[in-house]
Amino acid sequence: MERLQVEAQALEEYAEYRRIVGDDDGGKLFTPEEYEEYKRKVLPARLQNRLYVSWRSPTGMDCKLVGPETPCFCTHRYKQHKTDYEALPKERPIGVPCRVGRCPCQSYQFVPRSGAQPVRCRCKHLPEQHSAAPGFPCRACSKCSGFHSCFTCACGQPAYAHETVVETKEERLAQGKPVGQDVPYAAMGGLTGFSSLAEGYMRLDDSGIGAPSAELLEAPITSMDHPFLKAFQGPSSSAQTTPQIAGSSSDTGRVSHGKQSEADDMAYFEKRYQERLKMVKAAKRKERSPVTSKKP
Ligand SMILES: [Zn+2]
Ligand SMILES: [Zn+2]
Ligand SMILES: [Zn+2]
Ligand SMILES: [Zn+2]
Ligand SMILES: [Zn+2]
Repeated sequence: MERLQVEAQALEEYAEYRRIVGDDDGGKLFTPEEYEEYKRKVLPARLQNRLYVSWRSPTGMDCKLVGPETPCFCTHRYKQHKTDYEALPKERPIGVPCRVGRCPCQSYQFVPRSGAQPVRCRCKHLPEQHSAAPGFPCRACSKCSGFHSCFTCACGQPAYAHETVVETKEERLAQGKPVGQDVPYAAMGGLTGFSSLAEGYMRLDDSGIGAPSAELLEAPITSMDHPFLKAFQGPSSSAQTTPQIAGSSSDTGRVSHGKQSEADDMAYFEKRYQERLKMVKAAKRKERSPVTSKKP
């Protein structure tokens, strides 16, 4: 029982490690020291320079918030693109090029799906039959002047009228759009609230705008704490076991890593959010109980 708990915690820490480091360790796990060094170096810039990526309707609605696992037109996922900037570029639009070797994708481009099927171009060919190079020319026919989908989004507008938008926190705030809370995770893209992977029209984004509440910041740091605070918490007692466990099952680790989907993004962040809510409620109950017990 105890051993299982230790292993569960190690796996949980491995998941957290993966969400923070992404592929930046080049496939070889950081030592605890390297991990701390990575966080010290990368997290401040990541929080400062986070890029929000969404697929925006001409009505101004973000019909899709892009997360780490959301595929690009180039077929690679958002997290495989250059999502961390030490200093933000001055020019607009900000490019988020693909980092996969020889991929011609110059900036992340969301492509909608119709159910489980990718939408087709008006030339009848699939997105992956087109080049991910600028202009998105078709490689399967000569009549196509570049990928163009007439698929109608749930917002009522055609796909081609939408735009993949990359913007900074200030740019979103200026438009009154939610920015969510600061998180240390890589490639968070447009995810600002939990359930935000749902399509715009059915999303209840209550993440709000601005700084986390005082309640959140003042709460004691625990293993279930706000991920940003937790990331800066010193290495925990089981930090030593993380590389070991992950190392001994590195193949399984890699497989499950490769199998991650957008649903996993949702499940992971939703779980963190629920844990946090539980903690806050429990803390409130503790605060209240001594008062009630004093009553006659
Ligand atoms: Zn690519
Ligand atoms: Zn791409
Ligand atoms: Zn085409
Ligand atoms: Zn074609
Ligand atoms: Zn739409």
